[in-house]
Amino acid sequence: MPPSLTDPADLVRRWRRPAGELAGITAAAARFPLKVSAHLARLLADAPADDPRVRQFLPSADELVEREGFVADPVGDARVQLAGGLLQKYRGRALVVATAACPVHCRYCFRREYPYADASAVNHWPAALDALRADPSVVEVILSGGDPLSLPNAALARMVRDLEGIPSLTRLRIHTRFPTTSPERVDAGLAELLSGTRFAPVAVVLHVNHATELDPEVAAAVRRLRATGAVLLSQSVLLRGVNDTEDALAALSEALGALGVVPYYLHLLDRVRGAAHFEVPEAEAVALVRGLTGRLPGYLVPRLVREIAGEPAKTAVALGT
Ligand SMILES: *Cc1c(COP(=O)(O)O)cnc(C)c1O
Ligand code: SF4
Repeated sequence: MPPSLTDPADLVRRWRRPAGELAGITAAAARFPLKVSAHLARLLADAPADDPRVRQFLPSADELVEREGFVADPVGDARVQLAGGLLQKYRGRALVVATAACPVHCRYCFRREYPYADASAVNHWPAALDALRADPSVVEVILSGGDPLSLPNAALARMVRDLEGIPSLTRLRIHTRFPTTSPERVDAGLAELLSGTRFAPVAVVLHVNHATELDPEVAAAVRRLRATGAVLLSQSVLLRGVNDTEDALAALSEALGALGVVPYYLHLLDRVRGAAHFEVPEAEAVALVRGLTGRLPGYLVPRLVREIAGEPAKTAVALGT
């Protein structure tokens, strides 16, 4: 994997940011480290500040602003751990925090302050497997993170083999940011793993927020994923200044559809400390999705949802009539 961009001074130089921004970038990165994949670091070298990708990954002084209601663990993850690295909120599905690492650090991430080091499943895998064996009502495992594709193929393959050995499990899902930020990660070994497991077709949920993320190399990676027979879905976060227009959301859905990816969820921002400047109010979100409903086929309109701690599912936001 080519090295990612993690040093603020390096970023200011390579992305030709005004020198005056360095202090804010450094301060924000001290709270949640800077990380941009090599692929995006290269593509965004000459991008303007309002580029929807730059805005997702460039640390900013706005992150230091405290706002009422924006907290460390907005989705209540700390309260729903079954065993180390295994979270169960919803019936039949358990989510494995497979690793703490991600290919990028999205500045709006709700896990900005998650205590990954303690919670990551790689450190507690036998306990996680025991918990899954002990509860046959769980039929689907979601490998999440962090990003599960941060693990090398051999480690992932061992995890999948262990899960295959639990007869009550029937479905496997992978939530990942890699294909849209580090497309080279979708390699032959990964393809083999996805097509060769007894869980095939594996559901792969791609995190993507703007059509420009689906550049030619990313599109090729998505095609390689499709060729494995995986079910491809997407999830996006509605973000101020990134995808908060009907045209941007429609273009994203169209671009996903063209690659055979079904838009699954459009999340309202989780109110994590440091991300207030990304929030789009619910009424505006509803108007945007209603607009989409009026111009796209139903299967290209993502479900607008919000996560409410303690609810039995992601909560659909009513669009009205
Ligand atoms: C989002 C999420 C899921 C998956 O929800 P679906 O509606 O099945 O996509 C499962 N577990 C946790 C903890 C989640 O946050
Ligand atoms: S890839 Fe996901 S978990 Fe990782 S920083 Fe981005 S939003 Fe957070």
